[in-house]
Amino acid sequence: MSVIGIDFGNESCYIAVAKAGGIETITNDYSLRATPSCVAFTGKNRTLGVAAKNQQVTNMKNTICGFKHLLGRKFRDPVVQNELNSIPYRVEERPDGSIGICANYMDEDQSFTPEQITAMLFTKLKIDATDALKTQIYDCVITVPSYFTNAQRKALLDAAGIAGLNCLRLMNETTATALGYGFYKQDLPAPEEKPRNVIFVDFGHSAIQVSACAFNKGKLKMLASASDLVGGRDVDSMLANHFSNEFVTKYKVDPRTNKKAYLRLLTEVEKLKKQMSANSTKLPLSIECFMNDTDVHSSIQRSDMEEICTSLFQRIEACMKRCLKDSKLTLEDIHAVEIVGGSSRIPAVKHLIEQIFGKTPSTQLNQDEAVSRGGALQCA
Ligand code: ATP
Ligand code: MG
Repeated sequence: MSVIGIDFGNESCYIAVAKAGGIETITNDYSLRATPSCVAFTGKNRTLGVAAKNQQVTNMKNTICGFKHLLGRKFRDPVVQNELNSIPYRVEERPDGSIGICANYMDEDQSFTPEQITAMLFTKLKIDATDALKTQIYDCVITVPSYFTNAQRKALLDAAGIAGLNCLRLMNETTATALGYGFYKQDLPAPEEKPRNVIFVDFGHSAIQVSACAFNKGKLKMLASASDLVGGRDVDSMLANHFSNEFVTKYKVDPRTNKKAYLRLLTEVEKLKKQMSANSTKLPLSIECFMNDTDVHSSIQRSDMEEICTSLFQRIEACMKRCLKDSKLTLEDIHAVEIVGGSSRIPAVKHLIEQIFGKTPSTQLNQDEAVSRGGALQCA
């Protein structure tokens, strides 16, 4: 029976499976490898994944995205309070201090726990895997951030249980990446030799995780890890804030006062951000009929973005330095720095890696799928 590896990301999920001596990524019903971590309610229907994400702008209040950090936390938790700033749906505090996610479903205002919402998403992953592999799927390995507490881990296990998945193991995302790196390597030092030390940087949507790992044949030792809740979405919101300020002076409209307009702006700046990773020239931003029927125009280039996001890059730098210090490795001890996670494509992050670790970042791993593949390898 097949066991799937699930990377439950704040933005998207990936599923991998060990098959015929290799690891395969499972595609969803849209033939996509990434499934948005998104659950939506429309009248009497529930939509999940790609379909849910696609209708977000027209159904903001009932489209639940970005709930990974709500799991296993109380409503008053400062992290939750911070999440609420960027969440377009309603979240309530329940009498016991826990979180209720509010949405209209079956013509009724309902409140769901983060575990229930996560379970709905997992149901979708389970169906996609079942369809792709043409066999019933129950067993899985789910990856979690290394900084997840016991309460967060328990909440995730509960979600898996509600979805009818048997989670054989929760595996740290950092360990999964490292396992994916070491598993097929034939040339690792023998057990009695000096290990090969590799730094892994996973810069995703909501967080950065840096880890230092020592490899010998058949052995993987985590030396240190550091993390910070800073991710690609923070770049997006800083850019959106920058353009909002500009539009206030230029067009007398403030997107921050209108959730729908702000969401449209976020979508556009995310596209620009990705273009800026590949391109250092000036890029245009144009949104038609934006607010009060005004068309808005502006432009930005990579160097502007780097200036706007200075504080974020400082946090990333500090996180990398913390891991290096805790690992007690010298720069000469480090064999390579491997990068994964969507946001590790940002050139400024690659420059920081070169500065701090004295190595050009390497992309031996599949940046998007490394974590889920490591999860699947665990049970290969
Ligand atoms: P997390 O690990 O925080 O739970 P995740 O695993 O869902 O989140 P990833 O899929 O690793 O996150 O990364 C998604 C992020 O990467 C998004 O913020 C996206 O905008 C960003 N991203 C993807 N491609 C690029 C690119 N070419 N340049 C810059 N950022 C990118
Ligand atoms: Mg991730």
